[in-house]
Amino acid sequence: MRADVELDIGRKTFASGLLPELIAVLRRSRPGDLIGVVSDEQSLGPELETWCRFTGNPLVETTSENRRARWVFRCGAVAEPAGVPAEDDRPVGSRLWLYTNFDCNLHCDYCCVRSSPTAPRRELGLARIQRIAREAAELRVKEIFVTGGEPFLLKDIGEILLACAAAAPTTVLTNGMLFTGRRAESLRGLPRDRIVLQISLDSATPELHDLHRGPGTWARTREGIQRARALRFRVRLAATVSTDAEADAFRQFLDEETIAAEDRVIRRIALRGSAAEGVAVSRVDLVPEVTITADGVYWHPVGAEDADLLVTREIFPLSGSFAAVRRAVEREGEHAHKLARIFNCA
Ligand code: SF4
Repeated sequence: MRADVELDIGRKTFASGLLPELIAVLRRSRPGDLIGVVSDEQSLGPELETWCRFTGNPLVETTSENRRARWVFRCGAVAEPAGVPAEDDRPVGSRLWLYTNFDCNLHCDYCCVRSSPTAPRRELGLARIQRIAREAAELRVKEIFVTGGEPFLLKDIGEILLACAAAAPTTVLTNGMLFTGRRAESLRGLPRDRIVLQISLDSATPELHDLHRGPGTWARTREGIQRARALRFRVRLAATVSTDAEADAFRQFLDEETIAAEDRVIRRIALRGSAAEGVAVSRVDLVPEVTITADGVYWHPVGAEDADLLVTREIFPLSGSFAAVRRAVEREGEHAHKLARIFNCA
């Protein structure tokens, strides 16, 4: 991860002059700046992490190379974008996210889980999803979100969505480009009152969307939106943006299209996965939303393959997964700098 400031502290520790250096670098930095700390002392990690939590400067990455450790922390909180409605914190377990496969027909340059046509498929699989859905219903999950990579690459996506929709109202996140042939058929049989299609569209015109997602993708997504509406699905439009100006422009487009407030999502690019630029986030920044992948249970869908957001490898029983996330929340204590409004994935 690229940092705005690099601090090589050699063998310094908190007992030998590190603190004044950290204070000095914070004084020179602006909120949101990333500060890299390189050290010969790998054992400094726990103390530095404690200092980061205590001072409200979240640790966002830990790496090590050639026997040197590098930590990146963010200077303070990130300004929340203007015009995004406040949301109350949701109880852990009210929302459940499922990553169905990870591979994708697109290769977006900011994909937070590195999905692409060449990403290995890591499938939850229909049988596991059916069990998750049954147990989710028993646990009174209020909403299920299904994401891919691109879920409509899966032959059994229709059955997957039927199982989820039987358990709770379900939103499926898609780039909307595959609603033809057998995939269109799999859509036809789904309950319109239980399933929302959340389609990614980053801008009102092709330039910005195609820049991140590939030439011609904006036009094909627009066609997909029309197809979904023609099939009488409720469609939510979701944009991933870099700046307030991009968010404002998209909001204006949504106004012109008379898209209802509940069918709009605008979120920032997170510095995770394939993204080279974006907002660096750590666990303490994100309101937890239980997220299940083929590899385990994660804290939040942004970064659902990153070790720092992994809660447990054990998916079942689902009540155990939820309990593990709740215990992790208790350990995190007071989240003073939540960025939920920026990373409102749905
Ligand atoms: S952002 Fe969505 S559409 Fe783009 S590569 Fe990732 S999963 Fe696929």
